[in-house]
Amino acid sequence: MKFLIVEDEIKTGEYLKQGLSEAGFVVDLSHNGLDGHHLAMTGHYDLLILDVMLPDVDGWQILKSLREAGNEAPVLFLTARDSIEDRVKGLELGADDYLVKPFVFAELLARVRTLLRRRTTPTTELSLSIADLELDLARHRARRGGKRIHLTAKEFSLLELLVRRQGEVLPRSLIASQVWDMNFDSDTNVIDVAIRRLRGKIDDGYDPKLIQTVRGMGYMIDLPDEAS
Ligand code: CA
Repeated sequence: MKFLIVEDEIKTGEYLKQGLSEAGFVVDLSHNGLDGHHLAMTGHYDLLILDVMLPDVDGWQILKSLREAGNEAPVLFLTARDSIEDRVKGLELGADDYLVKPFVFAELLARVRTLLRRRTTPTTELSLSIADLELDLARHRARRGGKRIHLTAKEFSLLELLVRRQGEVLPRSLIASQVWDMNFDSDTNVIDVAIRRLRGKIDDGYDPKLIQTVRGMGYMIDLPDEAS
């Protein structure tokens, strides 16, 4: 689960990021509205926590752009403003919840969990598949040809990302930010190692081979072309 926090108060932002990271979420943090807006529109976030009053682009504008672009990720507003009009405005724009500062972290975490549950219960797909590889998203299990494959949590996340975006070449930098909470550093081979392990589990002994290396670009999961 990947979150974006846009909060211009440095301390509040860092505190939130640390707390949510400790709770097991991957968190991107932006301290201004302009970068926050850019990240919100280009990253793939499962939930956004937006401060309302931000330099340049305010939280409402970020939410408005998201919804106009068809992005329905849950948005929690975090703000010192507590007037009724502000709450109404946020909710009308399509915010999912509203928390007034100062707040207790435990309450924020509880609300975040509620938002994620609400979002994932009725509509989300329960499984993903390509060829004879199936992912059970609720139970975090993978099967190939009906046979259970044991994956670590990271391996499952990596596989889920690849299958969700099958046919699309994913650069290492994108994989690094989506699966690991890290910026891509060309010296690290974490991703290559993880892909090699994953390949060993889902492709070794099976046909067709699904994980493809696209030289100089990244990795992709796809059915091989008929001709090859
Ligand atoms: Ca602010």
